Amino acid sequence: MTEKYGKLNENIINKLIGVVGDQWVSADPEDLYIYARDMTEAKPGNPEAIVMPNSTEEVRGVLEIANDEKIPVVPYIAAANIGGLTIPVHGGIMLDLKRMNKILKVDEVAKYAIVEPGVTFGHMKAYLATNHPDFIYSYAYSPPYTSIVANALLEGLTEFSVRWGAMGDWIVGLEVVLPTGEIVKIGSNTISDNWNMKYPLPDLTSLFIGWQGMTGVVTKCSVKIVPNPTVRNTITVSYRSLSAADKTLRRLVNGDLIHGESTFSTPTIKMMTGMKHPLPPAGLNEAMLTSIIILFSDTKEEDKLKQKRVKEITQEVAEEDGKKIDFVPMGKGDIMKLPQSLPAFMEFRGQIGEYKGAGMSWLGTYCPPNTWIDAYDKGWKVMEKHGFEPLVFSKMMDAGHFVVVRYLVPFNKAVPGESEKVRAMLQELLETATLPSGAIPYKCPAWASEKVLKAMDPNWVKVARRVRKALDPNEIMNPGRWNL
Ligand SMILES: Cc1cc2nc3c(=O)[nH]c(=O)nc-3n(C[C@H](O)[C@H](O)[C@H](O)COP(=O)(O)OP(=O)(O)OC[C@H]3O[C@@H](n4cnc5c(N)ncnc54)[C@H](O)[C@@H]3O)c2cc1C
Repeated sequence: MTEKYGKLNENIINKLIGVVGDQWVSADPEDLYIYARDMTEAKPGNPEAIVMPNSTEEVRGVLEIANDEKIPVVPYIAAANIGGLTIPVHGGIMLDLKRMNKILKVDEVAKYAIVEPGVTFGHMKAYLATNHPDFIYSYAYSPPYTSIVANALLEGLTEFSVRWGAMGDWIVGLEVVLPTGEIVKIGSNTISDNWNMKYPLPDLTSLFIGWQGMTGVVTKCSVKIVPNPTVRNTITVSYRSLSAADKTLRRLVNGDLIHGESTFSTPTIKMMTGMKHPLPPAGLNEAMLTSIIILFSDTKEEDKLKQKRVKEITQEVAEEDGKKIDFVPMGKGDIMKLPQSLPAFMEFRGQIGEYKGAGMSWLGTYCPPNTWIDAYDKGWKVMEKHGFEPLVFSKMMDAGHFVVVRYLVPFNKAVPGESEKVRAMLQELLETATLPSGAIPYKCPAWASEKVLKAMDPNWVKVARRVRKALDPNEIMNPGRWNL
């Protein structure tokens, strides 16, 4: 049987150097070490070279060589996806796009920014604050050095997703290099310099959103920006039951009252404020979970009315539920500065006995609003059973059309057997909490996609495979992802 993929050799490396220059190609084992792994429990891969292009033309040059030689290519920026998605399964080229880090245009009238893939959350936030203070982007909890394009292509969730949906919905135009070397513009940019809309055309952006780098390399991405509100306020609401959280949040989104919402289990809040594993048992009257809610208003009067209404709703739900709900106005500032840095997560189980070693994983899902409580509750119990604190994060998305339920698993890579324990727990979470609730993992790791595909309509799988093959006939783009 012939090997499906080619191997890098000196001749191919020299061709790659011809495209990007000598200093931007490395096959040095010390450089490859870091690209072979990420912070999760996933086993390391076997990259053969790192290539760092600086332009669309250079990306095209690299892909043409890779396609001719059937060498796998893994688009890569910070590898902080928490799904093992940049760990190469079949070797090949790590296409590190960090050098392509320009914000090319901000249009305040049509409210979009065109960015290259290496633009990070930290970069975007600082750039808008300095140059376009009347506009904001929606930031994730991910570290400031992570890519906003990767986050949007992965359909991520951010501060204002309760109002404006997952980040795939924020993409309004693309420039993509196909593995076969064509450079394609997608959206209104295909007929003018306006990168403001993907409609009313057939939506070809979806050929690249959610595909984990399997269909092409995005070299420019236009994302929506939104007006910085005149008045912004933060409130925390703490509940003593999941049903109280569900009722409150549904009423808030149905009343169109809030722009931001993130809900953390109390153990998660303890971790984020610096407490370490093992956490003490919960107090008698301690809240179970807390929402950080953000209100946007045009005037102070509107803000006051919104705050009053949110408070009324929490009181009504508390009466109905028979359990106290805490309502605490936090004022104008961000109580949590996004994007976040990593230490709290990485240090939570970073020192166990003599073992020092940070790791971070999760099972993150998008769940029907009808079943999210069930998924949350079952997941909580699975985590406790496996000896991990129930660090659970949830978020209403797109005005309550779906809900994030994410089980966070900081762990210690140095403790013998802990990575295996994490793997076993994540599998059980998927099988007993997630799939039975109709929840679908996002940034889906390969081990999980194998199980998800089995549960899906086989015709979906057939169509997805056909689409992938049509765009990437030699299947060189990040092979092994989604098991497609
Ligand atoms: C502590 C922590 C908190 C986080 N919180 C959140 C959160 O709140 N919300 C959220 O959504 N995510 C979150 N994340 C996940 C992740 O950091 C983000 O989604 C992030 O933006 C991914 O960026 P990256 O630079 O690490 O991408 P990478 O991991 O390098 O790439 C991600 C995927 O996109 C592909 N890819 C990258 N660039 C391109 C391109 N140009 N063209 C085609 N494919 C490409 C890669 O092949 C890979 O499959 C968090 C991560 C951590 C560590």
